[in-house]
Amino acid sequence: MNTLILIALLASLVLLVWLLWQQNQSAHLEEAQEDARISPLLRGINYLLSDEPDRALRELVQVARLRTETAEVYLALGGMFRTKGEFGRAVRIHQNLLVRPDLPQALHMQAQLALAQDFQSGGLLDRALVQFGKVLDKQPDHVQALEACLRIREQSSEWEKAEEMLMRLDRVRGTLSSLHQAYLLAEMVREHNTKKHHKAAIKTAEKALELDTSCASAHVLLAEIHLAQKDDKGALASMQRLRDTAPQHLPLLVPLLLADEKVYRNQGKKFLLDYWNEKKDEAFALAWLEAVYTVNGRVAARRLLASLKLAPSALRSCLRMAAVAGEKGEPLTDFSKQWRKTVRNYYCVQCGVEVVEMRWQCPGCHEWGSMRPIAGEVL
Ligand SMILES: [Zn+2]
Repeated sequence: MNTLILIALLASLVLLVWLLWQQNQSAHLEEAQEDARISPLLRGINYLLSDEPDRALRELVQVARLRTETAEVYLALGGMFRTKGEFGRAVRIHQNLLVRPDLPQALHMQAQLALAQDFQSGGLLDRALVQFGKVLDKQPDHVQALEACLRIREQSSEWEKAEEMLMRLDRVRGTLSSLHQAYLLAEMVREHNTKKHHKAAIKTAEKALELDTSCASAHVLLAEIHLAQKDDKGALASMQRLRDTAPQHLPLLVPLLLADEKVYRNQGKKFLLDYWNEKKDEAFALAWLEAVYTVNGRVAARRLLASLKLAPSALRSCLRMAAVAGEKGEPLTDFSKQWRKTVRNYYCVQCGVEVVEMRWQCPGCHEWGSMRPIAGEVL
């Protein structure tokens, strides 16, 4: 009997040991599986921290294959590479994600958008457009993709397509971007004008001003076209409209008027003088002086300065004046001339970016018509 109990006990003990061993084995297996999942991630992060992006990528590709949830980590990583300017790596990450058959729909969309943004940031605009197109095929009201396409069309000076995209965006957002549209039309006017399609240019400019009369570039272009066509009356009307709606841009008219001596003498000078006498706008007078200096030289600039009786009120104005009307050979004149060559003349009222040459679209925030002449004490 005792022997039987002993055998039974021994058998139970063996069974218990076997069960424990089995459990241990499966725990080991799970651990090993977990290791397989986690290790590449940790290794990837480690490589990333030690600034070895290629090795990090290799490990993280592995992670993304093993676990669906890591796709989001992967997307963030791609975005980080793009922000750092490493577009090739960002593209590789997003392309890798897109070939995964098990990627959920929402993440697939995100990866497609991210890949388009990689191409756009890397300057591959055609490929970016194709990629954004894929996003818009699936979701035609995708605001981010529409905005990006508009930006690319503007960057590539494809004004008709940019306008089309703006209209689409307006419909989706429920907005009305009349001034933006007017500036796009004004760029089409510039193209017509370059090709000497004057009728189309005038018609488009009028359309732009119907949309928004404060579109300054359309006024300037119209004045330019009328002057080229010897339509002095039309030119004067356009200049007057610019004066009424966006007088800060009047300096842009001065070189146009000076280009035709007869027009300048007969009506241009009076137009400019009337504005000066009424507003005493210092920045305007200085721009006028500078234009005269460029076309007719220092003596003519000094003569104009005397007739305007301009007494500059800010250091910036003093330097601008000295550069064109200062005594020859004087240190201040030489310094001012040097300073004038590189000084920034315009700033954006939206984002504060400063530029040397006038632009109708801000290079910083891409707003239209937001650049203003820098005046006052700012150097
Ligand atoms: Zn700006």
